[in-house]
Amino acid sequence: MQNECIFCKIATKQIPVEPIYEDEQVIAFPDINPAAPVHVLLIPKMHIDHLLAVKPQDSAILARLSAAIPKIAAKLGLTDDGFRVVINTKKNGGQTVHHLHYHILGGRSMNWPPG
Ligand code: 5GP
Ligand code: ZN
Repeated sequence: MQNECIFCKIATKQIPVEPIYEDEQVIAFPDINPAAPVHVLLIPKMHIDHLLAVKPQDSAILARLSAAIPKIAAKLGLTDDGFRVVINTKKNGGQTVHHLHYHILGGRSMNWPPG
């Protein structure tokens, strides 16, 4: 838990969300400002700043995040048409919340290359 981290507050239920998926290590919830018809954020409950801050001993968390994606996709009806997973990292990646999070975007065709 890092003080003043909004996603730590969501993970610890200080800020309520409607979880799409949750287990003891990760939680997924709707993005407050959706960029697609389906826009879910998937986070580790443990505070990790970003992908570059993942330590070797955190690899089980990454596995848990990966394992949650198909469950979330199935729950949200994304498995037929597919979806996109985005991990914005630091300044050039466009990261604005400094707690590792996966964006799961779906419900429309995504553009490539991304902006
Ligand atoms: P980033 O730009 O860091 O990759 O993504 C941060 C995301 O968090 C943005 O899409 C933004 O809309 C979302 N976000 C920021 N604050 C909150 C919040 O308090 N609740 C929820 N559900 N999403 C948030
Ligand atoms: Zn945090």
